[in-house]
Amino acid sequence: MPNEPRLIDGRAVAEKVYAELRGEIEALKARGTTPGLAVVLVGDDPASRAYVRSKDKMCRELGLHSVKLELPAETTQADLLARVAELNRDPAIHGILVQSPPPKQIDEGAIIRALDPTKDVDGFHPLNIAKLALGDPTGFVPCTPLGCLRLLRESGVATSGAHIVVLGRSMIVGKPLALLLMQKGVDATVTVVHSRTRDLAEISSSADVIVAAIGQPGFVRAEHVREGAVVIDVGINRVDDASAPRGYRLVGDVNFAEVAPKAAAITPVPGGVGPMTIAMLMATTVKASRARRASF
Ligand code: NAP
Repeated sequence: MPNEPRLIDGRAVAEKVYAELRGEIEALKARGTTPGLAVVLVGDDPASRAYVRSKDKMCRELGLHSVKLELPAETTQADLLARVAELNRDPAIHGILVQSPPPKQIDEGAIIRALDPTKDVDGFHPLNIAKLALGDPTGFVPCTPLGCLRLLRESGVATSGAHIVVLGRSMIVGKPLALLLMQKGVDATVTVVHSRTRDLAEISSSADVIVAAIGQPGFVRAEHVREGAVVIDVGINRVDDASAPRGYRLVGDVNFAEVAPKAAAITPVPGGVGPMTIAMLMATTVKASRARRASF
């Protein structure tokens, strides 16, 4: 008998995060600090432009100081490093994010290393990755993994001792998420699978929780999931759809129609992990401004 899956509503959880942040932002402002976020976009990739727009919009809605720096596609490495150095020095900016992926002439790793790690709200700087690995709470954790963990917590999913299979080992999602889930206090037993993994379906179908972050539309099918598992779908993939107003629609890495009837709970795409990523970016920016205030 297929169960009625419980939908994990990322928009509702994101709203809860914003409600908490509003009070904190007011308190910071009353003490003379307006949290500030700078988002740097190089080039005109339409998806990146849309992400940057929604980050800027959310900053404004929350009353944060928002700087949106749109640089031409031919921006040089030296120019971009100079802009990052300016933002590093700017006391009104507490968080800096350089939208990925940059154009080919840009060495993204060098740009990340040039960020002031105390303003690296994406959590990609080597110092912040080291802090995550060490379990040091003063570091910044990448926003999407943080959003996945918050969704699990808000949905009442017990992680302690649970077998969580993470599909994908990227530095943006899979690898930091695995570190986060195995931390003391979260206490999951984590398996990470990737494109070279043998018997992937056998491994994933032993999981209590599956987190799919591989960028392959509908990859996770019924045979990958055991009855009663919780499924978090990080994937955001555009697939052609002539009947959709924009000629495409967004789908996740999970075949929702096949997997949902087996799952105890599942995130939809859109409306699952996506809204949480922006909410966690806002939360991390507030954390950065709080930390900077405390260091005065
Ligand atoms: P990525 O950098 O391309 O990494 C993909 C990972 O998946 C790699 O580790 C790759 O393995 C693995 N993989 C690819 N095909 C596979 C297969 N057939 N079987 C097993 N593993 C496979 O992607 P990403 O940046 O992590 O993003 C993943 C997805 O999440 C994308 O759809 C992206 O749009 C989405 N995303 C969403 C958010 C959000 O806010 N919701 C944020 C970030 C990303 P190898 O390492 O072996 O190549």
